Amino acid sequence: MKAAPLEEYDVLVLGSGEGGKSIAWTLAQQGKHVAVIERKYIGGSCPNIACLPSKNIIHSAKVASYFYRSGEFGITKDNCRINLSVVRDRKRKMVDGLIKMHLDNFKASGAELVMGSGRFVGPRTIEVALADGGTRVLQGEMVIISTGTRAAVEHIPGLSEASPLTHIQALELDDIPEHLLVLGGGYVGLELAQAMRRFGSRVTVIERNDRLAHREDEDVSEGLHEVFRDEGIGVVTAARVNRIEGKSGQSLKLQATQTGSEIVLEGTHLLVATGRIPNTQGIGLELAGVELTERGYIKVNERLETSAPGVWAMGECAGSPQFTHIAFDDFRVVRDNLAGGHRVTTGRQVPSCMFTDPELARIGLSESEAKTSGTAYRLAKIPMKAVLRTRTLSETRGFMKALIAAESDHILGFTAFGVAAGEIMASVQVAMIAGLPYTALRDAVFTHPTMSEGLILLFSAVPPISISSGSRAGGTIDLACKRSVVETVDRLESLLKAKGIKVFARIDQASEAKAASLAMRPMVLLIFGDPKAGTPLMKRYPSLAIDLPLKALVWEEAEGKVWLSYNSPEFLQQRHGLNRRPFEAIGQLLQAATQ
Ligand SMILES: Cc1cc2nc3c(=O)[nH]c(=O)nc-3n(C[C@H](O)[C@H](O)[C@H](O)COP(=O)(O)OP(=O)(O)OC[C@H]3O[C@@H](n4cnc5c(N)ncnc54)[C@H](O)[C@@H]3O)c2cc1C
Repeated sequence: MKAAPLEEYDVLVLGSGEGGKSIAWTLAQQGKHVAVIERKYIGGSCPNIACLPSKNIIHSAKVASYFYRSGEFGITKDNCRINLSVVRDRKRKMVDGLIKMHLDNFKASGAELVMGSGRFVGPRTIEVALADGGTRVLQGEMVIISTGTRAAVEHIPGLSEASPLTHIQALELDDIPEHLLVLGGGYVGLELAQAMRRFGSRVTVIERNDRLAHREDEDVSEGLHEVFRDEGIGVVTAARVNRIEGKSGQSLKLQATQTGSEIVLEGTHLLVATGRIPNTQGIGLELAGVELTERGYIKVNERLETSAPGVWAMGECAGSPQFTHIAFDDFRVVRDNLAGGHRVTTGRQVPSCMFTDPELARIGLSESEAKTSGTAYRLAKIPMKAVLRTRTLSETRGFMKALIAAESDHILGFTAFGVAAGEIMASVQVAMIAGLPYTALRDAVFTHPTMSEGLILLFSAVPPISISSGSRAGGTIDLACKRSVVETVDRLESLLKAKGIKVFARIDQASEAKAASLAMRPMVLLIFGDPKAGTPLMKRYPSLAIDLPLKALVWEEAEGKVWLSYNSPEFLQQRHGLNRRPFEAIGQLLQAATQ
């Protein structure tokens, strides 16, 4: 048989997932000769078999849940019946539309889509077993690997013989399982377990850890257990499955050990949702000089370069956090690095949302992570029912909580377990990106009644910075001021000078622009003013008067720069971006100056 001729490209992309397609379209639009090799799912897992189809099915399940509760809303319809094949067809229709959209994008960008299974046969050279027969051999000046992951089927005796469902088949069911056993209490397992229960299946979730969503805080797991219990979903935790008998779709028996005792669980269908394994085996990576990590992911540096020159990897196969938005950010990393920049994957935000009902959204540190890393924090937590919007919806379950730094107003983390949690999180995330103090959200004017409005309540519940003990605590200091403000500042200035700290300027509150311009200089800055005098600033910010003159703020900057202010901390933070750690020694001087 004649060998296929070598076809040369500027860029080859293996796998058309989120990162792969985005880089292909971008580079093709820039005039590069680009080919994307995809074995089955045009556009990758997200639009075909993962995020979007699962959210589509989950939404149908939500509609079903409204039917069960319809009496509560004063709307009843007799003979509520669920037709799973119609549920599935709505999903299929959406997926068809998404595939068409992807094909249009390929066409518009000029990137060639090669349908077939690719494997490396040499450096930057991929042989494609074409979906419609035949072979092509493509070589790229640059190659990007984005082959994703697939559902793991663990080595449990009888598991693969039971032909369990993965998320792919579960999203294609057209009959409601009589009793679905779900192996795994993580994102995929929980989302699908709840949806199937709402369609009328009996459901039992089997989790090897001692609680659902065990990587989240305990109060989150508790909330989930409560929801699942109320919806009649069986949850078996701390259970290790030893053996499985039977076939999914017929009847099954699972033998497991739970805290030392043998248990047997029976069901008609089995869904495995116990993790993912990377699609990196059998694709000739060794011939391409691409190394793997111990766990089988492609080894990349923080710029997403592999061990082979000219070869990059992105998305789940490169070990990136398993979310579509992260695969998309990987695309941005590679795009910018190819353009000569230096963009890295380290230190980026990794928000997540689990689409159970209610949703669970988190950005930044959780409480358990803060405790493990020894990060001091202040906690604000409110029940969702405190957010009045939830009452209009009759969706009052859950809570929101935020972790704020112990010594500054920096937002460290946010978790919401409740209706629209994923959407609310975005506002907090924006504040975190901008480096805003939590007070910016607390003092914002949000529309009533919305879920975002709840952020005002949440952030109003942040405890003040502690000024107790001999630690480096500080922040707002309530002063029993026995002197006038001017006298206090005079005294403080001389105390500071005696300590060898340079006092740079004393600024009246009216000159805020001047204060801002001085903000960058190394100095001690005393900002003071008398609210009763009614400076222009006080007129504009009457609420400041409440804090004055008996509150002072002490800030430490790097290299011995110090801020002292008789302004409100919120004002300073908002206007001048000051968000610095208080300096206890200065705080003590200030206390002394007021006596
Ligand atoms: C049920 C489920 C629900 C999810 N829900 C969400 C969610 O709500 N939000 C979220 O952010 N994330 C969600 N995820 C995760 C999300 O789907 C993934 O993080 C994302 O799709 C990863 O993109 P990727 O480009 O790395 O891989 P993929 O999208 O999997 O793309 C890899 C592509 O490579 C192709 N491929 C592999 N090997 C070859 C080969 N040798 N030759 C040719 N082609 C090949 C595959 O067919 C595939 O199309 C969910 C995942 C699952 C399983």
